[in-house]
Amino acid sequence: MSATILTLQPRSADPSVDHTIQAIVAGASTTETCNTDLAAGPWNFDARPGYGPGSSMGDVIPTGSPRQGELPVEYRDASAEELDVRVRAAKERLGDRVKILGHFYQREEVVRHADYVGDSFQLANAAKAHPEAEAIVFCGVHFMAETADLLSGPEQAVILPNLAAGCSMADMADIDQVEECWEQLAEVYGDMDAPDAEGLVPVIPVTYMNSSAAIKGFVGRHGGIVCTSSNAQTVLEWAFARGRRVLFFPDQHLGRNTAKAMGVPLEQMPMWNPRKPLGGATPEELEQSRVILWHGFCSVHRRFTVEQIDKARAEHPGVRVIVHPECPMAVVDAADESGSTDYIRRAIEGATEPTTFAIGTEVNLVQRLAADNPQHTIFCLDPVVCPCSTMYRIHPGYLAWVLEGLVAGHVLNRITVPQDVAGPARLALERMLAAKPPAAPASGWENAS
Ligand code: SF4
Repeated sequence: MSATILTLQPRSADPSVDHTIQAIVAGASTTETCNTDLAAGPWNFDARPGYGPGSSMGDVIPTGSPRQGELPVEYRDASAEELDVRVRAAKERLGDRVKILGHFYQREEVVRHADYVGDSFQLANAAKAHPEAEAIVFCGVHFMAETADLLSGPEQAVILPNLAAGCSMADMADIDQVEECWEQLAEVYGDMDAPDAEGLVPVIPVTYMNSSAAIKGFVGRHGGIVCTSSNAQTVLEWAFARGRRVLFFPDQHLGRNTAKAMGVPLEQMPMWNPRKPLGGATPEELEQSRVILWHGFCSVHRRFTVEQIDKARAEHPGVRVIVHPECPMAVVDAADESGSTDYIRRAIEGATEPTTFAIGTEVNLVQRLAADNPQHTIFCLDPVVCPCSTMYRIHPGYLAWVLEGLVAGHVLNRITVPQDVAGPARLALERMLAAKPPAAPASGWENAS
C-alpha cells in the first residue's frame, strides 16, 4: 500500500491549534481566536448544550443530539503528557486488535496516535481494510463513525471517543424534515417513482457524505446516491441520467459550486428551507429547477471570504489560492482552484517549485500541511484561529478513556447503525462506488507512529 508518511514535528514546532490557542490566552501570541474557551478542557463545555466554542458555536443543535456522559476524573485531571503516555501504552497493549483513525481536521494531540489520517471516506475504507481489528476508534465526528460502521464487519465495534462530537452541517438535514420535504415535492411533481417520456423520474435525492446514516438510508430507499467532495460532479452526472432534477443535501455550497461548474444556471437552483412551506420556493421555481439545494452549510468553510483572498493576493504576489468546495460560491470563484481536502494535499505535494499557498479549509489540516511541506509557504486564509468545534470535542482524555476501556474488556461509546437503515444506506454508498470509485484509502496519510 503506497502511503505518504506523516512526519511528526518536534514539540517546539508542534503545529497544534491547541497550543496556538493556549499561547493566545496566555498573552504569548497576539493572534486572534474566535473563542478563548477552546483553551479550556472540553469537559468545561461538554456540560453545556450546543456544539461548544469554535466555528459552529452559533449553530442550532437539534434536540436529542447525543450527549457525552462525564469523563472519569482521572482523565480530566491528567496532564497532556500523562494522557499521551497512557494512550501510547494502551495502544501498544491492544496491538492489532484496534485501529485508530484520525480525520484531517483533528487536532495534532490526537492525530499523532492515529494509524490512518484522511477524510471521512478514506477512513471508513481504512476500517473496511482491517477486518482483523476488533475495534475501530474513530477520531472524527458522528456521521463518520456511522459510515465506518456501515462499511466495517458486523463483529467490529466502531467507537467515537466523545459522543457529543457531531457535525453541525450534517445536523442541518434532519430525517423528519427530509421526509416532509419529499412529501411536499410529491405534491408538486406527482408520482416520484414514475419516469417521464425520456425515462427520467422527477427527483433523484443526493446526499453529501457529511450526513447521518438515516439520511443516507432515505437516499438509498428513493433511488438516490451519496457523494463526496471529490466526486460530486460524477455523482450529479449519474443523477441527471436518471432524474429530471436533484435534491441535494445538506451542503448548499457544495451543491451550488458543483452544479454551477457543470453549467446549471443559478436560477435553476432554488433553496429549500425546511422551516418554510415548499421550502420557500414557488411551484414554478420548483418546476423549472435542476438542483434543489438544502439550506445547510459548514460553519468552518463559511468563514472564508473574498476579502481574505484579495488580502492574500495583495500581500503575497503570485500566491496560489486553493479553497474547499464547501466555501461560498463567491469564494470558490475568486480562488485559483477548489477541491477536496485530498485534492488540496495532492496539489501542495505535487508542486515542484517552492510556492506560496493560501488555503481555505480547516486550520488543523493547513497547519499540518505547512509542517510537512517546509519547502512551501502555506497559510490559512482565515486569520482567526477557529477550528471545527465538533471535531475539537475529541480530546486526548477521551481517547485514553476508550482505549483503556478496551484493554479492560469494555467497549465504550460504540456507534451502531440500525439494520433497517444500514441496508438502504449501504445501497446509496454502493451506487456511488459504482458511479466512480473515489480515491483508495491509501491516499490518506498512514501515520509513522
Ligand atoms: S468541518 Fe464542517 S462539515 Fe466538517 S465536521 Fe466540522 S462542521 Fe462538519
